[in-house]
Amino acid sequence: MNYFAGIDVGSTAIKVAVVNETGDIAGVHVTASGSLFHKNSLEALNMLLSNLGLKRTDIRYLIATGYGRKLFKEADDSISEITANAIGAFEAGKAFGGVRTIINIGGQDSKAIQIDDTGNVVNFAMNDKCAAGTGRFLDVAARNLDLDLEELGEYHFKSEVAPLNINSTCTVFAESEIIGLLANGHGKAEIIAGIHYSIASRTVRLAKRVGIEDRVYFDGGPALNKGLVAALQDELGRELVIPEHPQTTTAFGAAILARNEFEAEQSLVPA
Ligand code: ADP
Repeated sequence: MNYFAGIDVGSTAIKVAVVNETGDIAGVHVTASGSLFHKNSLEALNMLLSNLGLKRTDIRYLIATGYGRKLFKEADDSISEITANAIGAFEAGKAFGGVRTIINIGGQDSKAIQIDDTGNVVNFAMNDKCAAGTGRFLDVAARNLDLDLEELGEYHFKSEVAPLNINSTCTVFAESEIIGLLANGHGKAEIIAGIHYSIASRTVRLAKRVGIEDRVYFDGGPALNKGLVAALQDELGRELVIPEHPQTTTAFGAAILARNEFEAEQSLVPA
């Protein structure tokens, strides 16, 4: 059996996805990017291969994507994360009846992408200037609130009062705003709900720039946070499609493209 891989070398996390000949996911792996992008990417790939009982030669084609994709020289090809995300969301979205808008929140940026009914990118918008609407904001908040990142989602639903307004437009100022709110006796849950609504309203403004059409697919690491998902659905006034592996959609898209490019090359080889 031939296998194909996509590696998404993100600013915060490295994601690897392996698909089989029919494009089904064989496995995914996520690890922190750290400072050694190339070494950590290779280790992430090898870790997934070993978990799946595969050898490097079983991977017939590998495509790199993401912020650090150029550093991963072992790849057969590389593509932008916009294209990879669109391919991954289009494929994964089929099980939900098809998606047309993709919202991605990453570790240091956020994007909205509109695709047509064949999966082609029609329009996109990106915010990479301000960390306040990104996973970085959540990481900083979790640290300030002395919580694990994974706990933010459940705290969101524990708030017995309305979510607080978080006004800071920059993560650095938000950090001192959070500390100030704690010092004034506000509970963690209302602060966390406020943070989620602040990220959600920024994200909706970004998505409106590309146009929002059903169904709306939400991916990237922060889509694992159920509280943020609830806030975003509330601000959008629509249900979101959340895939089984939201953080690895872009790596999955690169793996699907790797499979398609390999098959296209094979079909050109004379029998
Ligand atoms: P990038 O591609 O930019 O590296 P990711 O899509 O991998 O970004 O998202 C990284 C972000 O995902 C982190 O900054 C973190 O806030 C968030 N994240 C990762 N794992 C979880 C989790 N289990 N629960 C909630 N948020 C998470």
